[in-house]
Amino acid sequence: MSAKHVYFFGGKTAEDTGLDAKGQKELLGGKGANLAEMCRIGIPVPPGFTITTEVCAAYYEQGKKIPEAAVPAIEEALKKVEAAFGGRKLGDPADPLLVSVRSGAALSMPGMMNTILNLGLTDASVEGLAKKTGNPRFAYDSYRRLIDMFGSTAMGCEHEKFEHEIHEMKKAKGVKLDTDLSADDLKELVTRYKAVYKAHVMDDFPQDPKKQLFLAVNAVFNSWNGNKAIEYRRIERITGLRGTAVNVQAMVFGNMGGTSGTGVAFTRDPNTGENVFYGDYLINAQGEDVVAGIRTPEPIAKLHEDMPKVYEQLVGIRSTLEKHYKEMQDIEFTVQEGVLYMLQTRSGKRTGTAAVRIAVEMVKEGLIDETTAVKRVAPDSLNHLLQPQLDPKSKVEVVAQGIAASPGGASGIVLLSAEAVVAHAEKNPNDSIMLVRKETSPEDVAGMHLAKGILTSTGGKASHAAVVARGWGKPCVVGCEAMKINEEAQTITIAGKTVKAGEFLTINGTTGDVMIGKVPTVAPSMTGDFATLMTWADKGRKLKIRTNADAPADAAKAREFGAEGIGLCRTEHMFFGKDRIAAVREMILATSTDDRKKALAKIEPFQKADFVGIFEAMDGYPVTIRLLDPPLHEFLPQKDNVEGTEDVARQMGVPVSAIRERVDELHEMNPMMGFRGCRLPVVFPEIGDMQVRAIIEAAIEVKKKGKSVLPEIMIPLVGVVEELTMLKKRAIATAEECMTKAGIKVEYQIGTMIELPRAALTADEIAAEAEFFSFGTNDLTQMTFGFSRDDIKGFMPTYLKEKILPVDPFQSIDVKGVGKLIDMGIKLGRESRKAKHGQHLKVGICGEHGGDPDSVVFCHKVGMDYVSCSPFRVPIARLAAAQAALGDTARDK
Ligand code: ADP
Ligand code: MG
Ligand code: MG
Repeated sequence: MSAKHVYFFGGKTAEDTGLDAKGQKELLGGKGANLAEMCRIGIPVPPGFTITTEVCAAYYEQGKKIPEAAVPAIEEALKKVEAAFGGRKLGDPADPLLVSVRSGAALSMPGMMNTILNLGLTDASVEGLAKKTGNPRFAYDSYRRLIDMFGSTAMGCEHEKFEHEIHEMKKAKGVKLDTDLSADDLKELVTRYKAVYKAHVMDDFPQDPKKQLFLAVNAVFNSWNGNKAIEYRRIERITGLRGTAVNVQAMVFGNMGGTSGTGVAFTRDPNTGENVFYGDYLINAQGEDVVAGIRTPEPIAKLHEDMPKVYEQLVGIRSTLEKHYKEMQDIEFTVQEGVLYMLQTRSGKRTGTAAVRIAVEMVKEGLIDETTAVKRVAPDSLNHLLQPQLDPKSKVEVVAQGIAASPGGASGIVLLSAEAVVAHAEKNPNDSIMLVRKETSPEDVAGMHLAKGILTSTGGKASHAAVVARGWGKPCVVGCEAMKINEEAQTITIAGKTVKAGEFLTINGTTGDVMIGKVPTVAPSMTGDFATLMTWADKGRKLKIRTNADAPADAAKAREFGAEGIGLCRTEHMFFGKDRIAAVREMILATSTDDRKKALAKIEPFQKADFVGIFEAMDGYPVTIRLLDPPLHEFLPQKDNVEGTEDVARQMGVPVSAIRERVDELHEMNPMMGFRGCRLPVVFPEIGDMQVRAIIEAAIEVKKKGKSVLPEIMIPLVGVVEELTMLKKRAIATAEECMTKAGIKVEYQIGTMIELPRAALTADEIAAEAEFFSFGTNDLTQMTFGFSRDDIKGFMPTYLKEKILPVDPFQSIDVKGVGKLIDMGIKLGRESRKAKHGQHLKVGICGEHGGDPDSVVFCHKVGMDYVSCSPFRVPIARLAAAQAALGDTARDK
């Protein structure tokens, strides 16, 4: 526990925590730490104090009670703020100091927690404020906002009830904008707001400013465990934080008239990364008005005309902040009667595209070094650069244009609420959905997460939808004012055309274009800054990166992305080809070994041709080919598929009953644990022989063309070493035969997958036979947990929500359990291989986990030689591997 509960900041100083930057952030939250830091470097910030995250933790430990010792500390700090800001007292009836109460955890959670502004206003002090400022309109507007924010944030009143009142008022007065209401209107509105408050809270709006303050502090602490915050942490996989800090800060006002205003900006363009000042502001507005998407704000460049002096000062602060933090910043500011105050700075969220460009350009500008650049880009954010783009050749008409808020193209069926998205996706997980709303709010994050793209009719570049979409690398267009949404009819109209919910709509988040219908997409490529960053990453990493690919085109794409070989080539995918499935079925239906061999002979040329293509694409790199893995019934129609059975019978020229009988014979209660993997060639050795022959002959053919081939034959699902001993012997015999016949030798290896707990447990025995191990972590996870990976739908969401599991173990390696088996398997295997053969046992991973950054870090730690992942995740794995080696996975950009 830190010695102090509360830290003051103001003027050009801030109380010292004695901690490093990371420690300060953990103790004071990101917002508090940065407010203090801005004071220290001489940037104008209204004075305030931060109640630490440790007080939040203690609050929860003591059953939601502010610890006693913190109370006098808060009161004392408040006195300092009063002294620092003109000597006014909080809520003083004659001339009140007002404060904001703001949350702020160590990691930024935009919009997830609640801020209360104008605290300290009461029936008495509002009069004082009106008199002192000579601006009763402003005073009552501030008061009604406080009742709304305090009521909804601290006391759980519905914000809509307050909104309803202002709506009615505007209607009655025949005005459109809040700003058109007069002082008397607003005074009346205060009365109505208080009635709404009382109806819900069953008590009067508190008239004691200190009482307001402590209730507000409680509210911020409570919001830490509110649904929005919990949901956000779950999606972002944020764990291990102590809580939120509370920042209490003297209010400054952007709503005092034409010389006041408020804005948000980024020191560089968060979409593209371009080094330009980027943001929005509103004249005569307060707080969240800019980001709430209620009024469409002005671009920051225009501030140059409206307030030239303030603009100059702001441009100076932009550069001071970047030089100080050596990072792109996201800032909030308010101008009160021509005087500029900074209210927040933090590392700006950005698209993957922007992250890469900013990192590379900052190296060129001499702000950071290459290693820092590599550490700074979150591997998953590269997804953004690997997203398909709308096909530029497509001829779909652009019907409207909004603000390009987060790049990339997306097509999806229109749904008009986040709840509808969640419900639809649950039933149709493969559908692409376009979430279309007037604006989004933090309640919508679950639906936003599931949508392919987001389109809103209001809001600017810093609106909630834009910020959140950018963080996730999701295409987003906001402020598309030409679009009207009709919730009741479940339709939208754009440029006179109507689109019903469920019909396709396309957006281009790079240009802001909106199109009706579906647009094809094209694959991205790796060039420019992206390629530069990758070469820097490669200097740092130790792990090799391979890819999972079954076709030459995928192999070539992966190589373009930097793959250094194939870690998993699944041969069964080749079996499904239109021209081959008949031969495969013939093989399965065969009743004698001879018949089976005849059918296999038909498949062999196809297999060989595929391998030739892959070896050529991977010239010079190793290619791991896994022998047939799935149970044979996967190649036949399902038991109750009458039509399919008849079709197959017709195609094969056999009676329907023959197919049905074989399907019955092959039927399994639990196919995942059935007759599959190496069990197939153990029983039908001719299947394995054919595959090995195809591999070796293909290798010979490619070698003859002067290319370098390194085939690795991988035997799946081994649990007992004897399986491997038997199959290996046979494979060697086959390979030798091929090579003798061709009169040419190729280097090849035989190894196994470790995907059964027993294989990991007896890895020493297995390694005596295997030249390499590849951890098949999909099956290993399935078999270790006893979870069928296709059947987790029913319980996994609850397991994650109830924190029974921290993450879905099929997405990120379960380090504690499955990880222990892997670690043990590697150690046992390596020792044994060294002792018996004097060789280094090559170890890799080929499950889905190979492309998950956290799992890549784990693979690095346990000393694997490589990870293998799908082609489009190769750059992500390269970067994650570099960060693992550099000893830092900067998850907070
Ligand atoms: P968030 O974490 O959601 O960004 P903040 O605590 O930054 O919430 O508060 C939201 C907004 O409220 C700020 O952007 C700013 O405009 C306004 N605000 C907060 N504190 C003050 C203050 N002391 N004076 C004026 N405006 C404030
Ligand atoms: Mg907030
Ligand atoms: Mg903020």
